[in-house]
Amino acid sequence: MAYKYDEENIFAKILRGEIPNETILENDHALAFRDINPQRPHHVLVIPKGKFVSFDHFAKEASPTEIVGYIQAIGDVCDLLNLSIDTGDGYRLIANSGEHGVQEVPHLHVHILGGSSCGRMIQS
Ligand code: 5GP
Repeated sequence: MAYKYDEENIFAKILRGEIPNETILENDHALAFRDINPQRPHHVLVIPKGKFVSFDHFAKEASPTEIVGYIQAIGDVCDLLNLSIDTGDGYRLIANSGEHGVQEVPHLHVHILGGSSCGRMIQS
């Protein structure tokens, strides 16, 4: 079954410039901006510029160039915010996907959370 992309999702509107955002960085294939409802001192969302619903969609259908650009943006955010584990205290990377992943916005995004401990991974 083909992935279905909703052109009216909030992150599509952010990419089209219809909704403002607090950009951290941007490259040819990705945009990183602060989450509107931060769960940690640093809470950044990194989205690909292409129309991908989820991480599995991106892994299967993005071009190698898009994949490299997206992953590089994630690493660059970690460097910029001093979260990288070589110089900083680390972070958590989350990609909620679909119904069981409790994904609210149907455009691929990873959450980068840092600036304080994220605690254990999953509450039972
Ligand atoms: P999900 O549950 O889909 O993984 O996370 C969606 C995230 O998008 C949430 O953390 C939510 O706070 C964030 N969000 C929803 N609407 C907006 C918006 O208009 N701007 C920004 N910057 N973040 C948003």
